[in-house]
Amino acid sequence: MEDRINRIDLKRNIASHRQEYLEAFERVLDDAAFSGGAYADRFEEEFARYCGVKACSGVNNGTSALHCAMLALGIGPGDEVIVPANTYIATAWGVTYTGAAPVFVDCTADTWELDPDRLEAAVTERTKAILGVHLYGQPFEFGRVKEIADCHGLYVVEDCAQAHGALYEGKMVGSLGEMGCFSFYPGKNLYAFGEGGCVTSDNEDYIRHINRLKNQGCDVRYYHDEVGYNMRLEGVQGAVLSVSLKYLDQWTKRRQEIGSRYLAEIRNPLITMQRHPENTQSVFHLFVITTPDRNRFLAHMEEAGIFCDMHYPVPCHLQKAYAGLGYKKGDCPNAEYLSEHCNSLPMYPELTEAEIGRVIDACNSFRG
Ligand SMILES: *Cc1c(COP(=O)(O)O)cnc(C)c1O
Repeated sequence: MEDRINRIDLKRNIASHRQEYLEAFERVLDDAAFSGGAYADRFEEEFARYCGVKACSGVNNGTSALHCAMLALGIGPGDEVIVPANTYIATAWGVTYTGAAPVFVDCTADTWELDPDRLEAAVTERTKAILGVHLYGQPFEFGRVKEIADCHGLYVVEDCAQAHGALYEGKMVGSLGEMGCFSFYPGKNLYAFGEGGCVTSDNEDYIRHINRLKNQGCDVRYYHDEVGYNMRLEGVQGAVLSVSLKYLDQWTKRRQEIGSRYLAEIRNPLITMQRHPENTQSVFHLFVITTPDRNRFLAHMEEAGIFCDMHYPVPCHLQKAYAGLGYKKGDCPNAEYLSEHCNSLPMYPELTEAEIGRVIDACNSFRG
């Protein structure tokens, strides 16, 4: 059998800059700058510049970034925040942690992202914000979402965990809404060697507040002005992220080349791909397809040595954790269809042309 092709392979990515990472580790050891500190601060500045925003606050993971963004907006018990049903569950956690309730809205049938046409019906007098997700690396329809949000006096926050460097009408995600929330979980397009995340914004008041929240609620050491959290970004992660950020655009370009090949060369009526609107530029975090019989597709790919994944097998509104919110099957039909039929093809910058060719051939020879 031919060599195995996995959905993702971080080892190949790390190998390409191993020496630089080791030197970054050594600098952190030499300075003993472990929690927050100079290396975390420097990465925050670099990432703010990269996103084209005034400020960035590094935190310990993407879930905390979302939680902090909700807290900075003053969202709490009794409030509602609109969240897409088709996303990774952590998008909703930050809302729930504040005591507010996520309100799940279906995705469109072709972009698979938050459907602006369904927003109006979900708005109530309790709604405070819309939390959109740039899913699989593809910016959601920010313009229309923002228009509806403005009509109702709602904030728009971006979940950018899958979309570092993606463009919406030429603007970086993370600079569009009130705040952008990023994850640096291993496997995201930009990742830490452990956990990491950040919030970006042009509003420095939000970032100052998040800097306090993540630091036990204090601006001045041992004086705690509010109940805080320990959510600081580790120094070693800041140092690693600064190295990787230099290569992000190069990695993204390669993902886009692979995405373009898949889009152009996968020709099989049994396979449907995500629609990419012309005013957006995806960074292809994941390459998700749907096919009528997922199990047969997975078996067919495995026979060719190709191992896919699913993002995600259960939509948020049907997760057991949210049973108390009273959603049922049929509430978000597009998200439910995706959960039952989605597959993620191999997608990472180091895939070779031969490997991409094998994935395309295997997709095209699938007969259901
Ligand atoms: C990964 C991810 C998160 C959570 O980030 P963590 O760093 O794992 O906490 C949130 N939202 C989306 C869309 C994600 O993909």
